[in-house]
Amino acid sequence: MEIKGLKSWGGQWKRPLIMAGPCSAETQEQLRETAIAIHDLGINIIRAGVWKPRTRPNNFEGMGLNALKWIRDIKQEINVQFAVEVATPQHVEESLYHGIDILWIGARSTVNPFTVQEIANALKGVDVPVFIKNPINPDLSLWIGAIERFHQAGISKIGAIHRGFSSIQKTRFRNTPQWSIPLELKKTFTEIPLICDPSHIAGESEMILEISQKATDLDFDGLMIESHRNPTEAWSDAKQQVTPKHLGEILENVTFRNPTSKNKEFLTHLEELREEIDHVDQELYEIIANRMKLVDQIGYYKRDNNVTVFQKNRWKEISESRMSWSEKLGLDVDFMDDLFKRIHENSIRRQREIMNKNFQKAKDVS
Ligand code: PEP
Ligand code: MN
Repeated sequence: MEIKGLKSWGGQWKRPLIMAGPCSAETQEQLRETAIAIHDLGINIIRAGVWKPRTRPNNFEGMGLNALKWIRDIKQEINVQFAVEVATPQHVEESLYHGIDILWIGARSTVNPFTVQEIANALKGVDVPVFIKNPINPDLSLWIGAIERFHQAGISKIGAIHRGFSSIQKTRFRNTPQWSIPLELKKTFTEIPLICDPSHIAGESEMILEISQKATDLDFDGLMIESHRNPTEAWSDAKQQVTPKHLGEILENVTFRNPTSKNKEFLTHLEELREEIDHVDQELYEIIANRMKLVDQIGYYKRDNNVTVFQKNRWKEISESRMSWSEKLGLDVDFMDDLFKRIHENSIRRQREIMNKNFQKAKDVS
């Protein structure tokens, strides 16, 4: 699926598209000092939470209008754009009134089509860039649906942000990155910038470099990173924020890669290698087809001799030998084990079908 009209905005942003700034705008000085230090790194999009979605009430919920005024003042001083999260039509109205340049939709809003629609309606006739975070839950359709709602409201400058997904399983992440979901989104909407928010994925500052590199390797177009002049004293998300200095180090250490290269030699050689891969894949498919032919042959043989499909000793022997082959060939043992289990499951299913056919025939005869 391709959304037309989104194409035009390709020329208006550059890779890597970096946004950085505090989780929340807390005081005028905190915001100003942080923004200036980030701008000194060469970053010209500052993020700042102005209205904060908090899980429990009676916590700090953002500085609202005051923060918007600070932003307006800071923009007089340094040449930066500001991005803020909006979650209601009123947030949209107040942000636009105060000259906010970029809006983003938080994960807690993307989950709710009513909220998304209300915000999209409030934006009709305004062509401000809108970045849409993934919903809290790993539901690609909800994310796509939100993008469609903004597009239908006439917003042509749309971007997406991967900030990980809530999970009941304890993992080392605050929000688990299920990379296949944003990559699927990228396949669906090839023209929109897809950036990664490693801060909300990590939940702690030490993992931000690693996640940023992974996103970059996976062809993300940029990063949104939380940065605070003094993270330990932050009023929200203290553990995951980095100082502007640390941010500079992170960005220096990430190797930003290009989606392709203009180098003819590279392109020709890549083409050759891809042709080889195509051949190997074809052989792989043919080998699997041959294996399945043998599986069927054995299936008939077992049937005629009234022997069970599953043979535990044989399976044990297979698992052990295949594991040692993986080791010898330098293959990832867990991956090969998974792959081989799938092949074996399919083999068993085929043989059971063969036996069932016999059962069916016997029934028909009787
Ligand atoms: C944020 O960016 O500060 C934020 C609240 O993020 P998310 O919507 O990803 O939780
Ligand atoms: Mn935050």
